[in-house]
Amino acid sequence: MSQFRKSGIQDLIEGYQRKEFKPSEVVASALETISKSNSDLNALLQVRPEEPTARAKELDARMGEAAKLPLFGVPVAIKDNILVKGWQATAASKILENYVAPYTATCVERLEAAGAIVIGKANCDEFAMGSSNENSAYGAAKNPWDTARVTGGSSGGSASAVAAGFVPGSLGSDTGGSIRQPASLCGVVGIKPTYGRVSRYGVVAFASSLDQVGPFGRSVWDAARMLEAISGYDAKDATSSRGVVPRFTEALSAPSVESLRNLNVGIAPEWMDGLDPQVRKSFDTAIETIKSLGAKIVEVKLPHTKYALSVYYLIAASEASSNLARYDGVHYGKRTKQASELEMLYSKSWGEGFGREVKLRIMLGTYALSAGYYDAYYGKANQVRRLIQKDFEEAFAKCHCVAAPTSPTTAFRMGEKIDDPLTMYLSDIFTLPVNLAGLPGLSVPSGLDSNRLPIGLQLIGKHFDEAQLLHVAHAFEKARGPLSQPPWKGDRA
Ligand code: GLN
Repeated sequence: MSQFRKSGIQDLIEGYQRKEFKPSEVVASALETISKSNSDLNALLQVRPEEPTARAKELDARMGEAAKLPLFGVPVAIKDNILVKGWQATAASKILENYVAPYTATCVERLEAAGAIVIGKANCDEFAMGSSNENSAYGAAKNPWDTARVTGGSSGGSASAVAAGFVPGSLGSDTGGSIRQPASLCGVVGIKPTYGRVSRYGVVAFASSLDQVGPFGRSVWDAARMLEAISGYDAKDATSSRGVVPRFTEALSAPSVESLRNLNVGIAPEWMDGLDPQVRKSFDTAIETIKSLGAKIVEVKLPHTKYALSVYYLIAASEASSNLARYDGVHYGKRTKQASELEMLYSKSWGEGFGREVKLRIMLGTYALSAGYYDAYYGKANQVRRLIQKDFEEAFAKCHCVAAPTSPTTAFRMGEKIDDPLTMYLSDIFTLPVNLAGLPGLSVPSGLDSNRLPIGLQLIGKHFDEAQLLHVAHAFEKARGPLSQPPWKGDRA
């Protein structure tokens, strides 16, 4: 059983169209894989077999629609900070322990309308704050390549579930790297779309000017197919773009897509310091591959991105402190049992409900926004944010996209960085600037290090030019050739 564990979205779609199997068989296989391995990986926080099984049966009877629905019968996992009606949405926090979503997020509604089947809610860092998934109130998700190591974060469960073959696709959210960095550490493809491309309606807010939902898949095509389904204007999100969504996967089928001739790919030499030597080597090899496909490599300057970490942690914490004020135990959120009314609000409910990292961010953000400090911190950070955006605008005058490592290291050991927030924050040094500039970015696996841990290549594009990124990533992926899969219990048995 578990026979569909290695099937990607494209394999499933083609198989359904040839009537080789039915959604109920695929869902049964996914549930079996999950029941075998989720206790090892803790990738999914909630799996409720009844709903997906019932929905698969419904689709079995509609096999004729396999060619029409772009994600017909594709099982997916959804990060636990995204609402799916009737399912718990804890955002991996104790404060939302008993919260059941009363409606479905637009992005999930669109996946379901395209034929996808939600099969589980994925583990993550509490309120998406973290780079290792160790901040989850329900225990860290583990990396299927080596369970003693982190998945990256915050969308660690979504990345782990796809890498381990629980599901061929999942959704995560990326505020400063939370899709791309775990994609890199788990050896899958992850896309953070342009800010505004995907609706944030029904997504638990962390830092509203940075948050974007995006897909994970085991190939560029698979991730592109998911992106296509979730993108587009939504009247329920005021920042949602009215721009037309290109047919990403159709473009990837054109034969010309395998050449990168007439494309300039930028690299920023100042980003190369402090890289793990094996990550550096994999990056250099990837650039050689891109060159061999016909692209011209050009040097670009991103001088203000050295401030991205400070700017990000001021802006993200400030916006978080304001967004998280709603969990007051009155409107919603955990309310401690023993507290008197006055105590209820801050000291007890928040004390019990929020984890350490979340408290740290709320304090930092509240401080940065307080009278007298606002201009010096939040205001200043926004000015520097504009300079970072300008760096990219200037770079894109010279190139079609920028290539960079996704993360400076491969998956680190559990516990290795948890007591040292600054080192942990540095995991996102190459991804944060992309969110600050609102640009699209993706991570595609470029190889393995000597410990057989995955390394990711990041591609950063112009606003709303996901198509270009997908083109380059797809051509690179083909030239790179197939990568091995993480070891799996079922294979060893
Ligand atoms: N690791 C970063 C943080 O902790 C980014 C998180 C994210 O993208 N959600 O804030």
